[in-house]
Amino acid sequence: TSYGFREVPGGEKQDLVNQVFHKVAKRYDIMNDVMSMGMHRAWKDAMISALNPRKEPGYRVLDVAGGTGDIAFRIVEASGRQAHATVLDINGSMLGVGAERAEKKKLSGNLTFVEANAEELPFEPASFDAYTIAFGIRNVPRIDAALSEAYRVLKRGGRLLVLEFSEVDMPLLDRIYDAWSFNAIPQFGKAITGDAEPYQYLVESIRKFPNQENFAAMIRQAGFSRVTYTNYTGGIAALHSGWKL
Ligand code: SAM
Repeated sequence: TSYGFREVPGGEKQDLVNQVFHKVAKRYDIMNDVMSMGMHRAWKDAMISALNPRKEPGYRVLDVAGGTGDIAFRIVEASGRQAHATVLDINGSMLGVGAERAEKKKLSGNLTFVEANAEELPFEPASFDAYTIAFGIRNVPRIDAALSEAYRVLKRGGRLLVLEFSEVDMPLLDRIYDAWSFNAIPQFGKAITGDAEPYQYLVESIRKFPNQENFAAMIRQAGFSRVTYTNYTGGIAALHSGWKL
């Protein structure tokens, strides 16, 4: 099926993604709640429980496509404010909102904000105990490059966790979900930000992303071991896990 959205190759895709998140940065958090009907909070909580961050100051997490900091804040809180999280994003507008939020929450001491591309991480090999990415990897043009960078910067014994929209595996839910995402989400987006196109892009990018099994295979291909996944809400989202052993 075509939904009137054009195919975009590598560099052009990244430009489009950057425009989308630049436009929505200030409204991103509220849009997240609207688009996922609040469910992203439960999925993110489940991701943090799966990670179970160590409660020690030396524990270092890299949160890629970290945007406005949601995942990093949760990790720092769950570690009893011991862990250090690096929030990396390609978009300065999203990071700006995140840094402001961090100040308000008095979490700045546990956080570093870095503007960079997931495909080329500006870190030494074996720098982090965990690598997290939530609702980010489908925006990256070269997913295989992002995954091998994840592998490179993790320490031995380090953990990869990827939370992403995935393939719905429940017969009725998939149709409700289609109706919701192709009609309601762009409409809401337009109502809140004055522009439907960024949300059309978001919905379309979810359709194009590999399903659970295929994505697990890509993670193994990048070198990770013990790769597993858990579906949330009938597969609307899935959490993939892998280890650098
Ligand atoms: N992780 C946050 C969350 O769950 O709320 C933000 C997710 S937001 C849907 C996707 C983020 O991916 C945006 O902030 C965008 O700027 C970022 N992004 C897109 N392409 C990227 C790339 N190549 N490298 C790093 N970040 C990227």
